[in-house]
Amino acid sequence: MTSVPQRLDDRTYQVRTFGCQMNVHDSERISGLLEDAGYVQAAEASEPDLVVFNTCAVRENADNKLYGNLGNLRAVKDGHPGMQIAVGGCLAQKDQKTILDKAPWVDVVFGTHNIGSLPVLLERSRHNQQAELEILESLETFPSTLPTKRDSASSGWVSISVGCNNTCTFCIVPALRGKEKDRRPGDILAEVQALVDAGAVEVTLLGQNVNTYGVEFGDRGAFAKLLRACGEIEGLERVRFTSPHPASFTDDVIDAMAQTPNVMPQLHMPLQSGSDKVLKDMRRSYRSTRFLRILDTVRERMPHAAITTDIIVGFPGETEEDFQDTLRVVEASRFSSAYTFQYSIRPGTPAGEMEDQIPKAVVQERFERLTALQDRISAEETAKLVGTRQELLVTDQSGSKDATTGRLAGRAPDHRLVHFSVPEGAETPRPGDFVTVTVTESHPYFLIADPVPGEPAGYALRRSRAGDAWDLAQAASCGVPSAAAAGGNGAAGVSLGMPTLRPA
Ligand code: SF4
Repeated sequence: MTSVPQRLDDRTYQVRTFGCQMNVHDSERISGLLEDAGYVQAAEASEPDLVVFNTCAVRENADNKLYGNLGNLRAVKDGHPGMQIAVGGCLAQKDQKTILDKAPWVDVVFGTHNIGSLPVLLERSRHNQQAELEILESLETFPSTLPTKRDSASSGWVSISVGCNNTCTFCIVPALRGKEKDRRPGDILAEVQALVDAGAVEVTLLGQNVNTYGVEFGDRGAFAKLLRACGEIEGLERVRFTSPHPASFTDDVIDAMAQTPNVMPQLHMPLQSGSDKVLKDMRRSYRSTRFLRILDTVRERMPHAAITTDIIVGFPGETEEDFQDTLRVVEASRFSSAYTFQYSIRPGTPAGEMEDQIPKAVVQERFERLTALQDRISAEETAKLVGTRQELLVTDQSGSKDATTGRLAGRAPDHRLVHFSVPEGAETPRPGDFVTVTVTESHPYFLIADPVPGEPAGYALRRSRAGDAWDLAQAASCGVPSAAAAGGNGAAGVSLGMPTLRPA
């Protein structure tokens, strides 16, 4: 039995996240748990009383990065009595006690299956004045049942499954996250509804392999049903998901996407390689013909869908001919963008033991050819959008350039990033509001929408509940009542002096 930790009302914390979307979402849960236990998020540039590393074992140099960071923190901790350091995530699940051997000033090591124990472990370590290590081999509580502190009022991630039943030879995920565990549809939909009630207008359903969702409770059509059920939720304007697996991507999911208006025309479909031989060596059970057929069907049903992918270059044994196959499939696929990775050995994976590892220089040269090809395709695809009207969900993260250009940023339905200007005299949107603009300029990976001279009606603002929620959050953070808090509906444009997003 573990005791409930005392509340720690003045201890500050910081979570440092390495890795993928899953880790970013887990970090939101870590923040939620800590705040539930009484910790307060540390102000920027201040020295927190607790630093939590949420680590990744998949990315290259993950351990160097972690141990480098821990080394830097040692002196800080020596000068800050009572400071604690915790390490969680995939690398903690993999390295376990090695972390304490290499960095004995760490207070807590926890795994991917027991995030919920973190406050107790911190408390126990403080009380016993010794490091605590707790790693579970399987899931204790489905992570989404833990309190969560969302980074954005307008958008939220919702886990539908964790773990993976596949055995891709380059991937450490099955070893670290375990077999696929599916969350019950009712729990997922309740969480989506709760997010919408709190002001969100967009959700992204998250899983290592979303379209096998249902395998655990024996319903092969469960993912398509889930998408359709999300379509019934009033106020939910945008539904996305990541990532599906080509081997199990079935037409019922494509139908559900095409027939559910709030499911966005966007698909992330990991190719990994265009060579059937390499796919076999990777233990990916689809082949390039099937992959291209899926893309054709998606585009037939959703002509404006933007499709993105992941590609690994230089997998062991990849010949120039295999690589040419990848270039051929990439050319045919017309991806809007691709996450391209240079293969490097991940200890603990079957591919790491394979002979025929490809020399770094060869991998580099192929990688450059692939990225040049994808840059060209991305530029050609975005150029087609110049002159189109796009409704954007305004983000709270403007690009670095926006500070000088005065532009704001938003995401189009297909998730493309659009930097837009608010015309002179027009109302400025809040993050979470929607604007409709005309695209005036394209770049490979983003678009520009500036006012068109003589077309003042080109820009239209639609205030949303997410914008109201943003107002409320701002008001809460500085103790000022907002329009929404004061009973206003936001639509009247009353802001009671609350700032709207405007770059400096
Ligand atoms: S599908 Fe393959 S790459 Fe994706 S998580 Fe599962 S094992 Fe890893």
